[in-house]
Amino acid sequence: MEENEKCPKCGSPLGLVEETRTGRKLQRCSTAGPYDPRSKPTGCTYVKWLPVEPEQLDEKCPKCGNPLVMATTRFGKKMKKCSTGGWDKEARKATGCDFVEWIGGTTEKLDEKCPECGNLLVLYTTANGKRMKKCSTAGWDAAARKATGCTYIEWLK
Ligand SMILES: [Zn+2]
Ligand SMILES: [Zn+2]
Ligand SMILES: [Zn+2]
Repeated sequence: MEENEKCPKCGSPLGLVEETRTGRKLQRCSTAGPYDPRSKPTGCTYVKWLPVEPEQLDEKCPKCGNPLVMATTRFGKKMKKCSTGGWDKEARKATGCDFVEWIGGTTEKLDEKCPECGNLLVLYTTANGKRMKKCSTAGWDAAARKATGCTYIEWLK
């Protein structure tokens, strides 16, 4: 990262890298006041969003066989996309492989114990709104393509 980067608005140095609750990174102008969503920003309002480094996955693109990466949008939505996929800003069109798989499900921690192993349960909501309780130790081994950990699942109506 370049040090002493200057704010393009006012010429002051930029502040430290901060992270939002959705995991995006940003740098604000060092003359800006402390961030408080309830009050008006003070000082310079310049914000520089840093690119989110995509996380390389252990999965291959079903279209072209290149590795998939996990990407997060500005709104905190996650998707798997092909590592060869890109966006040509000048031509305003997608480049490379266009494979994208949205990750719609959310998990929420519950205060309940798994009846099978005693670990905590999580509430999982799928992309189409179905809900289930499952064991927090449950996982998915992408390389072996099989479930790992405890297999307890309770679907909710
Ligand atoms: Zn500034
Ligand atoms: Zn691909
Ligand atoms: Zn369990």
